[in-house]
Amino acid sequence: MHQSIAHGIAKVYPESHHGICIYHLEQNLKRRKVKSEVIKLFQSAARVYMRKEFDLYMSDIAKVDKKTFDFLMEEPPERMMDFIQVKLQRWFYERRNEAEGTFSDVSCWVEEELKKKIDLAFTLNVFPVNSWRSRVEEEVITFLVDLNKRTCDCFQFQFDELPCIHAIAAIEKRNIKKSNFCSDWYLKESWLKTYERQIHPVGHTDSWIVPESVKSQIIKPPDFKVPPDYYLDFQKFRTFQKNMS
Ligand SMILES: [Zn+2]
Repeated sequence: MHQSIAHGIAKVYPESHHGICIYHLEQNLKRRKVKSEVIKLFQSAARVYMRKEFDLYMSDIAKVDKKTFDFLMEEPPERMMDFIQVKLQRWFYERRNEAEGTFSDVSCWVEEELKKKIDLAFTLNVFPVNSWRSRVEEEVITFLVDLNKRTCDCFQFQFDELPCIHAIAAIEKRNIKKSNFCSDWYLKESWLKTYERQIHPVGHTDSWIVPESVKSQIIKPPDFKVPPDYYLDFQKFRTFQKNMS
């Protein structure tokens, strides 16, 4: 991974780990000429919040296309370093500029997300239970929002770490800043830190200056094969060791 990316991610998101990118997995499915019905099921499975819903979509995929289901269960992360580097180089530049020009406490994306939800949030009925908890009614369903724990019965508040419409309704009722209930990851400060470094192009391989000490190293893939009589030999060795001592 490019040093600046690794540095940025490790510094700002210390608990992050690498996962398989939904976008590229979807591209792989399209390349495999998977039916659009399966793509739609995949998109739904990738974006739901509850495990139960995810399993349901996956079992639907298995019913429609068992081969693709097996593929999805086994798909290894791809090598996409060139693509990632070019893309991130542009993103870093654009987002750093955007972050520097923002005056709110949160990133532009978060600001937009919160704005999108606000009209709907104002239509909900809010009944405060105590200083932190509220009962929020959306049509016939009631959601319990806990602003202190940052949770809601719809799960979006705790999973996205951004207020859901129910949480926004509860926050507005108390006249508090919504940015206080967004994860630190979404704050302008984290946004700036993430993109503070530059991604430099690595250039053509012909222009690389590779030290002799690196060039001379021959890297072979590790040999994972365990000889069939390995454990037997190991036991013999231990017996031999015991007899000698
Ligand atoms: Zn909610």
